[in-house]
Amino acid sequence: MPILVPEPHDEVCFREDGKRLDGRAVDELRPFSCEVGVIKNAQGSALVRHGKNLIYAAIYGPREVHPRHLARPDRGILRVYYRMATFSVHERKSPAPNRRENEISKVIREALEPVLFLEAYPDSQIEVYIEVIAADGGTRCASTTAASLALADAGIPMKSMVVGVAAGKAQGKVLLDLGDKEDKVGQADIPCVVVMKDKSISLLQFDGEMTLEEMKLGFEYVLKGAEIIYQKQLEALREKYNKISRQAEIEDAELSKETPKEEKTASESTDTAVSPESSDIFKSDVEAESAENTRSAEINETPEASETPSTEGSETKTSQEDVSSVGKEAKEENTLSEESAPSEVPPQAGEDNPTGDDK
Ligand code: UDP
Repeated sequence: MPILVPEPHDEVCFREDGKRLDGRAVDELRPFSCEVGVIKNAQGSALVRHGKNLIYAAIYGPREVHPRHLARPDRGILRVYYRMATFSVHERKSPAPNRRENEISKVIREALEPVLFLEAYPDSQIEVYIEVIAADGGTRCASTTAASLALADAGIPMKSMVVGVAAGKAQGKVLLDLGDKEDKVGQADIPCVVVMKDKSISLLQFDGEMTLEEMKLGFEYVLKGAEIIYQKQLEALREKYNKISRQAEIEDAELSKETPKEEKTASESTDTAVSPESSDIFKSDVEAESAENTRSAEINETPEASETPSTEGSETKTSQEDVSSVGKEAKEENTLSEESAPSEVPPQAGEDNPTGDDK
């Protein structure tokens, strides 16, 4: 009868050269990068790549609370939704929210609440949506880092940024920032969230066994790692505002390119009124106008008047007389036509048909 020997579980977390399987030192972080403003529809958002973890966080609010009965008249509420995508892990995860996700949502909320001024938002809620697109161990920490960055991006006032990072133990060695395998086969895992302003801890979970000395070393590693991540968070926020100011500079430059043209046009039109050349133009316009007047007066002249040789002054007088006589004639004509024209006075009551015409 064959003896079934269970396959030995591979607990190796170190290479022969003493480094971790991914080549890191015991107190070294996985590669970390982050950016903000990645989701246009959200009020604030962040994308965090921490090792092979890929996590989005998006913020909505402060806004009205739904359902209404959850609203608090003395302070705002923070609601955190941590979700793992079905394809984020090796073995397909059910799309339905599970107990683990609800627990992680709760601990992230508790880690963020101390740095927010929720008392400033009575009857309101701030919602934090976290989507883990790819998971590689330590997702609760990376999610808290992403949520903090997204809150800052949304412009929600905070006492401090927070950073999530874990320490732990594998094969008897204290480690910083455990990867997926180290997390699963290691002897201990301490996910922490550090409030960067005063280096206080707003989340501390502990799973496994460690001595007090090992824990102290672990916290040293955590503070060191958190500082590095914090600098990257600040860099991401700075980069966003640099981008905005660069864009504003480009727009200003484009505007100032257009403005001189307008100013030139404006100054040209002002010049027309005052410059000697333009005053000549103006003068010639006036001359042209007076010449036109003289010509029209000549047309109105009677043949006799036009024939009469005279000086300029008398000519003008004649034209004036003619104009007045024409005016007089026109007035007489008007009077006559007024007398002959039918009265425009509306018919009186009872005079429906004053002309007597039957229509
Ligand atoms: N994990 C998984 N399937 C699940 C939940 C978790 O494969 O349904 C993996 C995932 O890679 C996760 C790791 O297990 O990062 C450790 O999960 P844990 O609950 O310790 O949370 P985390 O370390 O991610 O904060």
